[in-house]
Amino acid sequence: MDHLSPQQDLSYWVERCSICFDARLDLCLDYCRDQFCLDCFQKYVKEVVTSSWGLSVKKIRCPVCQIHIAQSEWSKYVPEDTVELYNKHNRPYRSFSRHCPRCETETVACEYTKPRPFFHHSDGHRSKLIQKMILELLAVCNSRLHRHSDIHQLATTFEQQDWRNSTLHSLHKRTMVTLMDFVDHDLHDPSQISKVYSISRQILLLDMKSETWKRLQFSHISFFPNVECPNSACCTPFCLQCGYEKHLGRTCEANMQQRMTLTGSTDMDPIKWKLEHSKRCPSCSILITRDEGCNKVDCSFCGHAFCWLCCSSWSEKCGFYKCATLGLTQQPDKTSEAKAELGVPDMHHILSKFFSRG
Ligand SMILES: [Zn+2]
Ligand SMILES: [Zn+2]
Ligand SMILES: [Zn+2]
Ligand SMILES: [Zn+2]
Ligand SMILES: [Zn+2]
Ligand SMILES: [Zn+2]
Repeated sequence: MDHLSPQQDLSYWVERCSICFDARLDLCLDYCRDQFCLDCFQKYVKEVVTSSWGLSVKKIRCPVCQIHIAQSEWSKYVPEDTVELYNKHNRPYRSFSRHCPRCETETVACEYTKPRPFFHHSDGHRSKLIQKMILELLAVCNSRLHRHSDIHQLATTFEQQDWRNSTLHSLHKRTMVTLMDFVDHDLHDPSQISKVYSISRQILLLDMKSETWKRLQFSHISFFPNVECPNSACCTPFCLQCGYEKHLGRTCEANMQQRMTLTGSTDMDPIKWKLEHSKRCPSCSILITRDEGCNKVDCSFCGHAFCWLCCSSWSEKCGFYKCATLGLTQQPDKTSEAKAELGVPDMHHILSKFFSRG
């Protein structure tokens, strides 16, 4: 640019895109006045939107100063399909989904419908309904030996709507563990498990914040990992935790191992790769895969940060390249005892117990 005067030189840079420094600016952001060419801005937003498939709402920020750009502003400059993808990925109360292993239809465990605000009593009504369902399940037990004070206590909690957003997640978990245990040890009747399932679905429809819903749906999936493909021509039952067809009686990992053995796997087998690079997120129970990187993993579904080697919640204790619990070279123990410590119930085993009876 030797041919430009200092004045021209300045105006040259003032009019350039802040990403490529090459094209003339097409747009200037309202608040921070950072400027871009349309091509760069569209590519940038598309990149952010495509990678925003976690369950938290992603804010689009200025690529230069990181200030939050309102959707009404950035959406003016990008193609309609980018906006559509953003809206699909960034709904609050979004459901975790997987694609059917047979026909690729997107499948969810449950959808959230927020109770209508003008219909004041709907939530109290639902809560009383849950109490009624719990007591009905309890009434199936005709043994007078058990008093089941824990189940009565749960019923009372729902009757009195005695929970907050912060306690609903643990209440759901406690309710499921207690009722599963009751069906298993006192009723010995596998058909009753569907009642526990219905109770879980009703709890998921109580009035709650989107963050609570996110945690609760994963709690539901950890107890009921299997769904049926909604495509009526397919209806394949499959596992939301790993994405493979339903595998009662085997963990996701054991199931993948068996599939590998059956197909006479080669080194190119995608299951082999997945098995070697997968781990269950200790928070949401979904099997996540990782190619390479440091020890810190942020689960892309629930956002939980943990150490890939020892699976404990991320803290200063485990470094990015040295795990405090297992040391640098030692591989984590892959036995089921180690997995049980993570606090995620192995429902494939428990459910198979129910369904193989009677
Ligand atoms: Zn540019
Ligand atoms: Zn900016
Ligand atoms: Zn299907
Ligand atoms: Zn599975
Ligand atoms: Zn997770
Ligand atoms: Zn560690």
